[in-house]
Amino acid sequence: MKHNYHTHTVRCRHAQNTEREYIEAAIAAGIETLGFADHAPQIFPGDYYSHFRMRPEELSDYCSTLRALKEEYKDKIDIKIGLEAEYYPALFPALLALIRPYELDYLILGQHLDDNEIGLEHNFLPTDKEEHLIRHTSQVLAGLHTGCFTYLAHPDLVNFTGDDEIYRRHMLPFCREIKEMDIPLEVNILGLTAKRNYPSERFYRIAAEVGNRFVLGVDAHTAGALTDPTGEAMAREFCRKIGITPEEDVKLIPPTR
Ligand SMILES: [Zn+2]
Ligand SMILES: [Zn+2]
Repeated sequence: MKHNYHTHTVRCRHAQNTEREYIEAAIAAGIETLGFADHAPQIFPGDYYSHFRMRPEELSDYCSTLRALKEEYKDKIDIKIGLEAEYYPALFPALLALIRPYELDYLILGQHLDDNEIGLEHNFLPTDKEEHLIRHTSQVLAGLHTGCFTYLAHPDLVNFTGDDEIYRRHMLPFCREIKEMDIPLEVNILGLTAKRNYPSERFYRIAAEVGNRFVLGVDAHTAGALTDPTGEAMAREFCRKIGITPEEDVKLIPPTR
């Protein structure tokens, strides 16, 4: 992989390594473009604390650190500055206002929880409820319709354990609508190496049938994930089995311009 736009840092409280360590690893791995998409801060009402992301007051240091490193390493690698954000309807305007001054290169949509997060279970917990699938897919589509997101990370994160027929009933129109928006779906490498419920063959067979666009994302939570070729090999084998060809690079969409 020459281009990876899905990289976390220690700032999100569940990944390891600093920005510099990821950059050094990426150069060693022959990566030409390294995009950072750490978990976006969200401004929640009251004193709710979201434990898997940087806090809003940490965004400034994230951006300034990356800008300095981008300059320092400009002859060796192209650094892009982004975030992986959920689409929370009640919080999204405040998120855009928060990030606007930093003129980020891109956002990727990673819908880990639905609604506005508070009181909801993580989407990778198993569910056989059709209402959950409906809620999740409609919220992701609404997020993508904002035009702020470059691609959809782990599009099949929701761990639906119910019937194939029900899954298809909702995922087929979901994939079709995303195809109409011309937004790529990520094949998530961390999901493969960590043996998560995603990426699932069930989902990608539907997306292949629809003819969606695809891109690989490392979803690096350690610098070592960038230098270990195992994950990419697993992802390429997964794509070969499904019969899809991921694009080697994507055009980044600035979210606030
Ligand atoms: Zn994610
Ligand atoms: Zn991620």
